[in-house]
Amino acid sequence: MEYQVGILGGGPGGYVCALRVAQLGLSVVLIEGERLGGTCLNRGCIPTKALVKSADLWREIGRAEEYGLFVGEKRVDYGAVIARKDSVVNALVGGVEKLMKAANIRVVKGWGEFKEPGRISVTTENGVEHIGVENVVIATGSVPVRIPIPGADLPGVGTSDEILEEVELPKRLIVIGGGVIGLELATIYQAFGVQVSVVETLPTLLPNIDEEIPKRLTPLLKRSGMEILTKTMVKQIHQEGENLVVQVEDSKGVREITTDRVLLSTGRRPSLRGIDVANLGLETEAGAIKVTAQMQTNLPGVYAIGDAVGGIMLAHVASAEGIIAAEHIGLGSGTMSYRAIPSAIFTHPEIASVGSTEQELKASGKVYRVSKFPFSANGKALTLGESVGIVKILADEKGVIVGASIMGPQASNLIAELVVAVEKGLRAEDIARTIHAHPTLPEVVMEAAHGIDEKPLHLA
Ligand SMILES: Cc1cc2nc3c(=O)[nH]c(=O)nc-3n(C[C@H](O)[C@H](O)[C@H](O)COP(=O)(O)OP(=O)(O)OC[C@H]3O[C@@H](n4cnc5c(N)ncnc54)[C@H](O)[C@@H]3O)c2cc1C
Repeated sequence: MEYQVGILGGGPGGYVCALRVAQLGLSVVLIEGERLGGTCLNRGCIPTKALVKSADLWREIGRAEEYGLFVGEKRVDYGAVIARKDSVVNALVGGVEKLMKAANIRVVKGWGEFKEPGRISVTTENGVEHIGVENVVIATGSVPVRIPIPGADLPGVGTSDEILEEVELPKRLIVIGGGVIGLELATIYQAFGVQVSVVETLPTLLPNIDEEIPKRLTPLLKRSGMEILTKTMVKQIHQEGENLVVQVEDSKGVREITTDRVLLSTGRRPSLRGIDVANLGLETEAGAIKVTAQMQTNLPGVYAIGDAVGGIMLAHVASAEGIIAAEHIGLGSGTMSYRAIPSAIFTHPEIASVGSTEQELKASGKVYRVSKFPFSANGKALTLGESVGIVKILADEKGVIVGASIMGPQASNLIAELVVAVEKGLRAEDIARTIHAHPTLPEVVMEAAHGIDEKPLHLA
C-alpha cells in the first residue's frame, strides 16, 4: 500500500486527523476537492465570526457617545467588510496548507471516490489518480439542506454558502429557520441596519439549548427591532417585480411578507459525496455514517468523523473525532466522549452552553440544584457597557457541575472553565473557592458557582 492512512475531506475533521496521524509517524494522504479548512474555515465558523466582529464594532460605534466619544462620518462599506472576512479566511487556509507541508502530509487536490476497500481514486487536474491506502477516514462533512418549498431556488433565495459571498446589503432579509446559523446571520445583518425577520416553525428559537436562554434572548432581539415569528411555517416564495414575497402560515392564517432577500437556514445534512455506500456495504442511519465510539464504521479499516457522522455538527467535535480515529489507527486506543461538548452561538449577546440543560434534568427526574448570577451585578460587565445576561450553573445533589448555560458578553470564552468542570466532574465549590481576578467577567461564573452550595456574595 502507498499510504497507511487516506483521508477524504480536508475540513477541521480531516486535516486535524491528518496532523495527528503524521505525529504518530504513519504515512498519510489527504484528499480535498475544494480548499483546505472545509466548511468551517471557508463557509462557516471563521467567515461568520469575522463578520460578527465587524457587526459588533459597528454596533459599538453607534453607541460611542455613551462612552464619551464623538466620531465623525459613519458609513458601512459592506464590500470592504466582506474583503476583510476573505483575508482572514485566506490567512487561515494558508496556515493549514503550511501545517500540512511541515508535517509531510501529502495533500491531493481533487474530488475523491471511495468505491472499494484499499483504494481511493482522485480526479485531479492531471487526470485520475488511484491511491492505495491501508485505512480510510471519511471526513466529507455536510451541506446545507434546501427545504423543498416552491420558490426555494429563486434568485435572491440562498443558504449561508451564498450569503457569505454577497458584497451588498439588502434593505430587508427574511431568515427561514431560527437555529444557530440563522440567528448568527440575522444578528450580523441587523447590526448593519437591515430589516430582519426570522421565521421558525417551532414554538421557540434555538430549540436544543436550555429553554431559559431563548426565553431571555427573544425579547432582546425583538426590542432591537428584529421581527421574530415562531410557530410559523413558510409555505412558498414567489417573485413580484424586484421583490420576493414569502407566504407564511401561523395560527391566525396565511399572510405574505415582502422582502429583498431570503436566507434558508433549515439545517445541514451529512455529505457522502464520492462514497459508494452500496458497493462498499457501508452502514448509514438517517443519511449519516454509523460509527463506534472509536469512530470505526462497520467496515474493517474504515473510519468516519465530523459532520459526515451526524450528531453534534460542530468543528471542535469533528477535530476531536479526527484525533480519536488517528489514535485508534496508530495506537489501537482512544474512545470519543460526548460528555462535555461546548457550543457557542455568536448572537448579540453571545450564548454558550455545555452538558445538561434544566429541561433534560427535570425530565430525567434526578435531583438537581441550579444557580444563576446576572452580568448586571459584575463590575467588568458594567465597565464594558454589556451587562445583559446570566450565567446559569446546574449541579447534581452532591454539588457536582453537570451543565451550564451563559448568555452575555464573552459567553463563548467564559464557557471554557465550565467545560473543564463538566468534563472532570468538578464540584461547584471547586470553582467558587478558586480565586478569580477582579474585575473580570469570569467572576460571574465564580459567583454563580457560589450559589450552588451557599449564596452568591454580590447579590442582594
Ligand atoms: C455558517 C456556518 C457557521 C458555522 N459556525 C460554526 C462555529 O462557530 N463553530 C463550530 O464549531 N462550528 C460551526 N459550524 C459548523 C462547522 O463548520 C462544521 O461542523 C465543520 O466544518 C465540520 O467539519 P468536517 O471536517 O466534518 O466537514 P467540513 O468542514 O464540511 O469539511 C469537509 C470537506 O470535505 C471535502 N469533501 C467532501 N467530499 C469530498 C470528496 N469526495 N473528495 C474530496 N473532498 C471532499 C469538502 O470539500 C470539505 O472541504 C458552522 C457552519 C456553518 C455553515
